[in-house]
Amino acid sequence: MNDGLYGLIGKKLNHSYSPQIHALLGAYEYNLIELEPEELDTFFAAREFKGINVTIPYKIKAMQYCDELSEIAKRIGSVNTIIKRDDGSLYGHNTDYDGFIYLIRHSNIRVAGKQCFVLGTGGASKAVCPALKDLGAARVLTVSRTGENNYETIYNHVDAEIIVNATPVGMYPHCDESLLNIVRFQRLTGLVDLIYNPAHTDLMLQAEHDYVPVENGLKMLVAQAAASSELFTGNTYTEDKINDVYRKISFEMKNILLIGMPGCGKTTVAGLLASKLGREQIDLDKEIEKQTGRSPAEIIRSDGEPEFRRIETEVLRNVSSLSGKVISCGGGVISPRVNRGLLKRNSNVVWLQRDIDKLASEGRPLSELIGTHELYRYREPLYMESAEYVVNNDGDVNDTVEKIIEVLKV
Ligand code: NAP
Repeated sequence: MNDGLYGLIGKKLNHSYSPQIHALLGAYEYNLIELEPEELDTFFAAREFKGINVTIPYKIKAMQYCDELSEIAKRIGSVNTIIKRDDGSLYGHNTDYDGFIYLIRHSNIRVAGKQCFVLGTGGASKAVCPALKDLGAARVLTVSRTGENNYETIYNHVDAEIIVNATPVGMYPHCDESLLNIVRFQRLTGLVDLIYNPAHTDLMLQAEHDYVPVENGLKMLVAQAAASSELFTGNTYTEDKINDVYRKISFEMKNILLIGMPGCGKTTVAGLLASKLGREQIDLDKEIEKQTGRSPAEIIRSDGEPEFRRIETEVLRNVSSLSGKVISCGGGVISPRVNRGLLKRNSNVVWLQRDIDKLASEGRPLSELIGTHELYRYREPLYMESAEYVVNNDGDVNDTVEKIIEVLKV
């Protein structure tokens, strides 16, 4: 790293989104620098940087190399941003605190006067707890695997109104894992998961099922990067700018997933969308065929619909955890309740609508058996529940593709 440059230091950085975020914030070089613990002394002695971010596992250790710390960094006990001043001295700050405050202020979750539980006692938890107190929380209680408040005793505190997950549990690829049974917390009014991959963790899906407002960690990630970038460059970013970066990163990270009646054009539109955006296309029915050696129609005819749905859920479980793909699904994917959560997991879900009389039913066993109109009557509320976006596909498919890109990028 040459003098004058910016970057991120940590032990393992291959999944980091920081370079993309900093590229959208400002025109400066931003590098990922993986360091072993024994390399820290040499790195800081050389001081060949203008500003760096620090991540796991060096946020606490990096403090010792700073000549001065911000009050927040001292209070939290760790740094995630270090800048080299003109005299060569190092100033350390922690913008995770700023990022979390931004996230709460730009969510539907209110913490003032609330009983807040923070899961985990690591670096992120140490930034979140003081931020919650400064936002006026009535009480902030941490839950740890080993402490007095652990994942057994936590159910004695069912008065939790806000829960923040500051552990890595539920992060890709372990998307089915979660630490709590949310239904036990009847007074819950908000859940924040600092994880951003997947966009909806299992904990978030549980809370959403009970209509509790949820937020993932992506706004915090972008806002902490913006606060670091302000320290690096002296620039000031408006809320519009931060929001714009957030939307772009969110669009890139999430899949675009198409649902809708059989024959509405999902596979064709997905193919065009994928090539237009330079993304990989995944067709759920083809994945099922690849894995079982039989087409969905064959499975339904020989083993019945329940067995087909069981297989479909298992395949969807894996596909829905991926990032940045275009996915088309079979028409009945919305039928099992578990699938409606999985669809949302890491995707922008688009319901592709087409005039019901234009839908082809030939070779589609359920359409042939039940009739397209009857099938639609049953499925319509489930499409509505599952999709965030509705796009009409009665006209030219190229126009449909443009419409999808337009609604998702706004
Ligand atoms: P960390 O310093 O390693 O701490 C994580 C804590 O989680 C541990 O101290 C531990 O607390 C708990 N934990 C770890 N493994 C666990 C397990 N298997 N079961 C239950 N608890 C477990 O990591 P961190 O920096 O705090 O990061 C935590 C999470 O927040 C990560 O997913 C990270 O990606 C995310 N994060 C997001 C942002 C953002 O901007 N959105 C910023 C920072 C971190 P106990 O030992 O007390 O149980």
